[in-house]
Amino acid sequence: MSEKIPYKIYLEEHEMPKQWYNVRADMQKKPAPLLNPATLQPCTAEELGNVFCDELVKQELNETDRYIDIPEEIQEFYKMYRPSPLVRAYCLEKKLDTPAKIYYKFEGNNTSGSHKLNSAIAQAYYAKQQGLKGVTTETGAGQWGTALSMACSYFDLNCQVYMVKCSYEQKPFRREVMRTYGANVTPSPSNTTEVGRKILAKFPDTNGSLGCAISEAVEKATSQDGYRYVLGSVLSQVLLHQSVIGMESKIAMDKYGITPDIIIGCAGGGSNLGGLISPFMGEKLRGEKDYRFIAVEPASCPSLTRGVYAYDFCDTGKVCPLQKMYTLGSGFMPSANHAGGLRYHGMSAVLSELYDQGLMEAVSVEQTAVFESAQQFARVEGILPAPESSHAIKCAIDEAMKCKETGEEKTILFGLTGTGYFDMYAYGAFNDGRMSDYIPTDEELKKSFDTLPKID
Ligand SMILES: *Cc1c(COP(=O)(O)O)cnc(C)c1O
Repeated sequence: MSEKIPYKIYLEEHEMPKQWYNVRADMQKKPAPLLNPATLQPCTAEELGNVFCDELVKQELNETDRYIDIPEEIQEFYKMYRPSPLVRAYCLEKKLDTPAKIYYKFEGNNTSGSHKLNSAIAQAYYAKQQGLKGVTTETGAGQWGTALSMACSYFDLNCQVYMVKCSYEQKPFRREVMRTYGANVTPSPSNTTEVGRKILAKFPDTNGSLGCAISEAVEKATSQDGYRYVLGSVLSQVLLHQSVIGMESKIAMDKYGITPDIIIGCAGGGSNLGGLISPFMGEKLRGEKDYRFIAVEPASCPSLTRGVYAYDFCDTGKVCPLQKMYTLGSGFMPSANHAGGLRYHGMSAVLSELYDQGLMEAVSVEQTAVFESAQQFARVEGILPAPESSHAIKCAIDEAMKCKETGEEKTILFGLTGTGYFDMYAYGAFNDGRMSDYIPTDEELKKSFDTLPKID
């Protein structure tokens, strides 16, 4: 008989991926191109190069190379905290009394506490290669800013972070981690940019939003010499870097002859999910294998399940290229959901297109139920999950419980994107029974859809 699958499946150093996988190469119908908001024509490499690093622009526009080499220095950095463990959730399975086999890929084993470091280090590397002084970015919950601060300090680059104001106030410790790594952190909206001053004049009491912080970071990058803007999710280049999650998962599972039936991930801008599913989706696109893919989003910010597939602005200030994606409208202000990393109005163009083609499913889940699953998971698996990650846990548990009803022994793989140590206010609200489950009404969404740019 086959040997027992270990609790944790690690890879040897020599088994680690040396290339990222670019799922767009295997898509018959590609994601729609980014458009210049002024001309409504596809953005050229030159236009994008004013905002982003040159090599990253190439990756953003590359729809043909299936594999892209991971530079040696990035491979070396990855070795400090990768491979991330692929864990068989034996304890959770037992607790649920389910015939399902549950696996999770845990990305929280680094100081930034999430998968975001996988792309941060790549983006910092290319900025350094280009001889830049530094980069600017936004951060919502703080994970991306933390990851980028770590990556920039490693390559000796300046790092300017616009942090959504409510997080800046709610998560002072994240801010201090960033400052410890040498980053300059500004609460957004701020009066350090034109767009920030405009937004403050219009909404003096705003708590800020991701879309607004993006506008400020882009303005700051384009108005200073030797700086570029970097983004922690949504873009195709970020999904490419995050494919290391899926590549490692696949190598580890192949080692033991395991084939997942269902692959689940939480979806904010789509980078962890896109990265996790990419190599598996490639097999599906090439007709080699079939899998079910499920994106899990918060009911308070349901871009895939209730959004529209249209060109929209990526930011509130409307300075970024237009992207065709599932969106709630760039003016959408999600309610105070505790999963800060999932509070984005849009979704990766790659995932949007895959979803539109019916190759991926999406579900939305409510906050209280998410924290119930987080608590259940923490108590048996020993990891305190991030609220974002807990969306995937909730869905994985739901699927495992369906297996219990039907007696099916399905294999479930989900992405456990990070740890929740900086989210204890959220856990506090849950433990006190003060958590709300605000879901936007159809009228509210309609109002936001009305602000979409009119493009045919
Ligand atoms: C940022 C973040 C997410 C969501 O971002 P994606 O780009 O959709 O992956 C999920 N989990 C954690 C822990 C995060 O920090």
